Amino acid sequence: MSDAPERESSPQAQEPPSPPEDLEQPAPQGAVCGEHPERQAYFTCPRCGGYACVFCWHPSVRRCHACIRRDPTEAAPPIPWESEEALGGFERYWRTLATALRPIKSAPAFARRGVGPALRFMLLSALPLVVVSGIIPHTRTLLFSGQMQVQLIGQPSVLEIVLDVLRAIAVEVGSHGVELACLYLPFTSLIRAYAPPEKRHAAAKVVLYRLWLMVLISGVAHVGSWALLPPEPGPLVTGVLQDAFLILSALMPALMFISMGGVARLACGLSLGMTLLVVLVPMVLWTVVLPLTGVAVEVILPPVPQLE
Ligand SMILES: [Zn+2]
Ligand SMILES: [Zn+2]
Repeated sequence: MSDAPERESSPQAQEPPSPPEDLEQPAPQGAVCGEHPERQAYFTCPRCGGYACVFCWHPSVRRCHACIRRDPTEAAPPIPWESEEALGGFERYWRTLATALRPIKSAPAFARRGVGPALRFMLLSALPLVVVSGIIPHTRTLLFSGQMQVQLIGQPSVLEIVLDVLRAIAVEVGSHGVELACLYLPFTSLIRAYAPPEKRHAAAKVVLYRLWLMVLISGVAHVGSWALLPPEPGPLVTGVLQDAFLILSALMPALMFISMGGVARLACGLSLGMTLLVVLVPMVLWTVVLPLTGVAVEVILPPVPQLE
């Protein structure tokens, strides 16, 4: 104790010393995990003082698994969308989007009650992307070509255009609805089966809050190509864009699945094996169904008319 640095007690210091919870403390020699008495412990939980093995330690939130099971909401601040801080609507919105980049650290927050805010956030984040991803490629009376041009195809009446736009939106909402169901239904059912009742809503919340990840790329690609591309882009431009599109198309669902796994483990308190199971089942189903929804959309819609 006598070797504590004296500078910390200086009256000049403005910053209060870090609370002990911020320090990662190793477990003492010979200590065993509180959950697994047969395993050596490597960490001391700053919250409860218990010892944790590598499997029971959550470094991103500095908690042992027992603390996470007891009260996950204590390990992360609320999602900004639900925060009681005096934040403006836009700030809540952008900060909530940004939590997707910290899928593990923010995961315990989804254990907080109330699915309503998550549903409203989904309607304001994923739905607009789905609408533009429907209108731009699927209308057959309007042609959205580069540099924000919109041309009429043939001589449609206003009613025909309105019905065409509504059909385009409905087809896209339907196809994404099927994809959402492939994620949502198995994930929430499995969590319902294995998580304690008071934590089951976390599964629905994370899918709704993060659904925009699954539709961002198609929305941005359609708006981007409508706004930015020259009407006849060269093969180099389209090649580079296609590569970027493919990489991001894989990255965004990966973030979604990490988010879902983080919630299963850190908000619902599932074991590692169970976490893998509850994420792998929807992931495989989604991967299988994704190309089928694309084919179904092609079958439902009439062919693209040729411009004269
Ligand atoms: Zn603990
Ligand atoms: Zn353990």
